Amino acid sequence: MTPLTLTMLGMEKLNDNTVNINFKVDSEQPFVIIAGQFLRLHFTQDDGFETFRSYSVANIFPEEKAEIDEVSIAVSWVPGGLATEKLSNMQAGEQLQATGPYGRFCLLPDRHERYFLIATGTGVTPYRAMLKEIELRLQAGSQFYVVMGAQDESGLLYEADFVALEQQYDHFHYIPCLSRKQRAQAGPNDQSGYVQSYLAQHDFDPEDDIAYLCGNPDMVDEAFKLLKEKGLPVPLIKREKYISPAPRKK
Ligand SMILES: Cc1cc2nc3c(=O)[nH]c(=O)nc-3n(C[C@H](O)[C@H](O)[C@H](O)COP(=O)(O)OP(=O)(O)OC[C@H]3O[C@@H](n4cnc5c(N)ncnc54)[C@H](O)[C@@H]3O)c2cc1C
Repeated sequence: MTPLTLTMLGMEKLNDNTVNINFKVDSEQPFVIIAGQFLRLHFTQDDGFETFRSYSVANIFPEEKAEIDEVSIAVSWVPGGLATEKLSNMQAGEQLQATGPYGRFCLLPDRHERYFLIATGTGVTPYRAMLKEIELRLQAGSQFYVVMGAQDESGLLYEADFVALEQQYDHFHYIPCLSRKQRAQAGPNDQSGYVQSYLAQHDFDPEDDIAYLCGNPDMVDEAFKLLKEKGLPVPLIKREKYISPAPRKK
């Protein structure tokens, strides 16, 4: 996998617990990535072992497969976390080593009639990366449902990008599912509860539908079970669980 040097350009707060970090990418070969893929950022544990943490690339790609020289990632801080500690203390101009791109959490070449892109928290970033390709598939007649789970409004990361597409295409649906606190001024599609409750109201058609699940591992497991019970075949339920590798030990 291509070794990359990332130079931090800046960091913006998305909410109390989440930031968007921009990096310049330097690599010996052109850095080509497909929307939905992720990078591994490399860190050194306190005991000296090298390890990594994975982050989906959050940029809106100019096309599905693109050569880019800057990447954005959205990071949710985890108390006591290794990457959390290192990244939250980084300043613009500092560098870290990375590898990538990795992953197959990308739109399949065959166009489906209905797409359910389901996320919690930073798990929405692969779908943001895919927005231009989503638009092409909307123009070809597909319907999209981006089903976004968060505790409250502040967790609806990059909402404006999805709402902008919804305003252009009546067959693109952005569905916020708020589990703890509803908005004072509810959005037109706001749901109360977990994404699983929203999915439970739907019927799925193995001929026409495909689902993508990304983010919190419990949500991914529960929604996967639900979609399978509702008749979606396993190859049509794509999954990306946001988990850390086990700490390296002697
Ligand atoms: C393919 C892939 C893509 C990913 N993309 C993203 C992304 O775009 N944005 C992002 O923020 N994360 C993403 N993750 C998760 C990320 O790699 C780290 O696991 C996360 O940032 C925590 O790392 P850390 O080093 O700060 O905490 P760690 O040192 O790994 O964890 C510290 C402690 O917190 C626990 N923990 C870890 N994560 C959580 C959590 N979310 N909630 C509660 N407890 C937790 C651990 O079990 C451990 O006990 C992705 C993971 C994968 C596998």
